[in-house]
Amino acid sequence: MSPRKVVVVGAGHAGGTFVALLRREGFDGEIVMVGTEVHAPYHRPPLSKSFGVAGDGEDWGGPAKWLYDPAFYQEQGIDLHLSETVTSMDRGSRSVTLSDGAVLDYDVLVLATGAEPRRLGLLGEDLEGIHTLRDVGDAVRLDEAITSGRPLAIVGGGYIGLEVAAAARVHGVDVTVIEREDRLLARVASPALSEMLSEHHLTSGTTILTGAQTVGYVCDAGRVGGVRLADGTVIPCGTVLVGAGAVPRQALAEQAGLECGNGIMVDARCRTSDESILAIGDVTNRPVDGLEMMDGRMRVESIPSAVDQARHAVDVVLDRPAQNHEVPWFWSDQFDLKIKIAGIVHGDYETVQRGDPARGGFALYHLRQGRLVAAETVNAPKDFMVAKRMLSTGCPVEAEALRDPEADLKLLLAAA
Ligand code: FAD
Ligand code: NAP
Repeated sequence: MSPRKVVVVGAGHAGGTFVALLRREGFDGEIVMVGTEVHAPYHRPPLSKSFGVAGDGEDWGGPAKWLYDPAFYQEQGIDLHLSETVTSMDRGSRSVTLSDGAVLDYDVLVLATGAEPRRLGLLGEDLEGIHTLRDVGDAVRLDEAITSGRPLAIVGGGYIGLEVAAAARVHGVDVTVIEREDRLLARVASPALSEMLSEHHLTSGTTILTGAQTVGYVCDAGRVGGVRLADGTVIPCGTVLVGAGAVPRQALAEQAGLECGNGIMVDARCRTSDESILAIGDVTNRPVDGLEMMDGRMRVESIPSAVDQARHAVDVVLDRPAQNHEVPWFWSDQFDLKIKIAGIVHGDYETVQRGDPARGGFALYHLRQGRLVAAETVNAPKDFMVAKRMLSTGCPVEAEALRDPEADLKLLLAAA
């Protein structure tokens, strides 16, 4: 590959990181990035973690922060088209068409279209007062609803649901989390972490319903007045947040015949089934080192993964050898809990706990056949750092040594 023109579809975390790195690493050709949103790339994590600070969302005294100052793109000669959507792509002529009718040709196309909130298709879903959360506009609307003090029902006990529940309780709002699985964060966390988080949310006054299937919404005076469950119960509320997962925005790729499943299929270097097209971020279905289920692939919906893939895509464009992948990791802030997870919690494992949840920071190390599979840490940055290192080296780990609270973690790592 020695391309002169790179076009990026999607001005989010992955796209913004990619264009900045590509320029920084010396690419002197043309870079164009097209994004549907009105804003230059910004950080989404603050959107679910505090309320009462949104303002009008425009002056950025609000919850969101820029990835790079908006002036950066012009300074770097990056042609940024905001409020424009790529509506189609033509692999034959290597071009994309924008919503204003403009046609852009490319040598390399990078798809970074992210994901969007899953719609459950339930009766009453479009009632006023029902929210989803993905962008800064959603956050401003949700902020207004939460600070109005109406009781809040959250459909989905995943990351968004729990972070918003914690932030809403700080404002004294009545919160009910409705989760269809038998535990919170079932997709991403171990049962032990789910239980500890559940206790924390219950103590803060949140009501948690597990094994509860939402089937529709009840209307009250023209807006949402309750959530209806499969057993006929109605949970009264004035605001609903649906945090039922995210689906990849892959329609463009599918229409163009790229290989897709749950996400655009990419290899370890972010290459799609078309050699001129790369894909990065939440929209991709990527290989994950050490993942022994799901054919070793998954969608890793996180900032560290988007940044890691952006780095790999830059290497491909610049025709440089592949680097190692960063170990997948995740973070979430709920109340005063700083949760950090290294690796993917999956399959069977033996869990070793270090530290005591009742007395501050602690970590759950999950081992399989003498090696670490993943570690979940809460207010325990040293454990997180050591676990991430253990995962990247793949070194053998002794459960007994980890279990010993007197054992120095760094020495354990050095001895491995
Ligand atoms: P996005 O950031 O979603 O960007 C995709 C962009 O592409 C969007 O702006 C979209 O409008 C645009 N687009 C889509 N289709 C087109 C098209 N056809 N033409 C032009 N533009 C298009 N991750 C963490 O690691 N830690 C956290 O604490 C955390 N908190 C989060 C909190 C919230 C509320 C949300 C929503 C996400 C959070 N995440 C967190 C996830 C993280 O934000 C995502 O993993 C990350 O944004 C993925 O980057 P992306 O560029 O792939 O997608
Ligand atoms: P999520 O973490 O995948 O959680 C989705 C929740 O909705 C799960 O509890 C899931 O339960 C439930 N659910 C799924 N389908 C359902 C259905 N048909 N009916 C009822 N419940 C259903 O996703 P999210 O919390 O909505 O977050 C959206 C995106 O933002 C994700 O990409 C997430 O990674 C990202 N995000 C990340 C962070 C972070 O990293 N800290 C914070 C906020 C958002 P099941 O287990 O039953 O499927």
